[in-house]
Amino acid sequence: MENQANHTDNDRAENHSTPPAKKSMKEVFFQPRVLVIDDEERIQKACERLLTQEGCQVDLADNGIQGLKMIEEKHFDIVLLDLMMPGISGMEVLSDVKSRHPDTVIIVITGYATLEHSIETMKKGAFDFLSKPFSPQELRVVIAKAIEFIETLQDIASEKSRMRVMINILRDGVLTTDHQKRIALANPAFLKMLGCRKKSVIGSLISDVIQEPVILEMIDQAVGQHRDKFSEITNELSIPGKKGGEDMVIGIRCIPFRDRLNRNLGAVTVCHDITALKRMDQLKSDFVSMVAHEIKSPLNSVLMQLKVVLDGLAGDLTEKQEEILTRSSDKIRSLTDLATELLDLSKIESGLINQEREELSVEEIIKEQVRFYREQADAKSIRLTYIPSPGDVSIMGNRTNIEEVLSNLISNAIRYTPGEGEIKVWASEETDSSLIHVEDNGFGIPSESLDQIFERFFRVKNEQTRYINGTGLGLAIVKSIVESHNGNIHVESKLNEGTRFTVTLPKIQYKI
Ligand code: ADP
Repeated sequence: MENQANHTDNDRAENHSTPPAKKSMKEVFFQPRVLVIDDEERIQKACERLLTQEGCQVDLADNGIQGLKMIEEKHFDIVLLDLMMPGISGMEVLSDVKSRHPDTVIIVITGYATLEHSIETMKKGAFDFLSKPFSPQELRVVIAKAIEFIETLQDIASEKSRMRVMINILRDGVLTTDHQKRIALANPAFLKMLGCRKKSVIGSLISDVIQEPVILEMIDQAVGQHRDKFSEITNELSIPGKKGGEDMVIGIRCIPFRDRLNRNLGAVTVCHDITALKRMDQLKSDFVSMVAHEIKSPLNSVLMQLKVVLDGLAGDLTEKQEEILTRSSDKIRSLTDLATELLDLSKIESGLINQEREELSVEEIIKEQVRFYREQADAKSIRLTYIPSPGDVSIMGNRTNIEEVLSNLISNAIRYTPGEGEIKVWASEETDSSLIHVEDNGFGIPSESLDQIFERFFRVKNEQTRYINGTGLGLAIVKSIVESHNGNIHVESKLNEGTRFTVTLPKIQYKI
């Protein structure tokens, strides 16, 4: 221990010539409590002097037993521990402190720092070691490192506690599950929404805590997502109200979280109560369908009366009068079309119509629709062709609905393709799905509008389309029908080159 003493006694002289430690202890805002356990008084005093100067609170112990006693009585952030002491050895003290106070950082002081020795102390949980003789600067560096480590741990702990408070006060339900689908976190809002009364659910399998197949399936899908794919899974869940009260509708989003190698570690599920939104949406739909229904019959009677006049049954018309009345009839017809489409849409969205599903031959429906629209296409000299597929593509679906999908897509293709153009319609198959394609070489859709064309009332407005009548509801209807059949619709288009719509439907669906 003599060499050691020489160094520490010279610390002031060295202070000016040696470079400063990476992070001066004076810079840190918290005052670490340090316990020096060493049987040699000179070492104790030298360490005490230097560490006090650096802003630490220092206590001293002459041997292992005394040191352990002091650690039991109060918390120390750092322990400087001599390995070679009479009585209980430093190694024993190290093991004891690590097992009972794992967050205390231990720096071992050793006179013979062999490699094996160092490895052994590290294995037992030492943070670092100082080999004798060490200079004041070496002591400063190792203490600064320890403080940085303690601060990082404290940051993580406070971040964790902040997160916990934030998540616990959220009104949205939050659930985190690991890759084995065990609960790592479930906030009170989540447990309340799902009607779970258990107090401690952490570590339980999610299937033991909640029975909702919708959520369990979403978590399965999220955790099973391939590393090349990263998508949010969304769904809605209706929970029956208590004592005949209103059902609660929950919007659920589930997303996997991953490590640096892109391996799935688990999933985060967020539940948002959308009951009020749904109620508003329903009110809006009801209102729209009521208005549409109410204006349809008077409009039809106006149309009929105009027809009577136009047919000359109310007397002769001048050319000018006939022209004005024809234009009025056209406008009224567009209005009745709008009312019909609004009604259709609200019926489809409320799931009220066409629930009957049967096995349908897609080929047959395409052929019929192509035949039906041939005349309209011919009128514009458009070549409308049906391309037969090798096998018979069939789906489980509602005939009227699927006919409406094709009718909307083909009539759009005819309306948005200039004369002499070409339209092709065909079906194809993939492992689990049947596909319907409608392709034209018409006006195309500007790329910035592609995301919007399925929205209600959206219409592309440009020179080519401004004179084409429409309601902007056709594709919204198509999308609603396709989604009610658990399928999806996709569009690819290039301005002035053409458009292709692809409808994907699952091959077999069971009756709802
Ligand atoms: P509508 O045709 O009554 O306006 P839709 O919902 O059927 O309403 O279509 C929305 C918009 O999408 C149309 O206004 C049109 O701009 C565009 N669109 C639809 N189909 C095509 C197509 N085959 N080619 C080019 N544009 C299309």
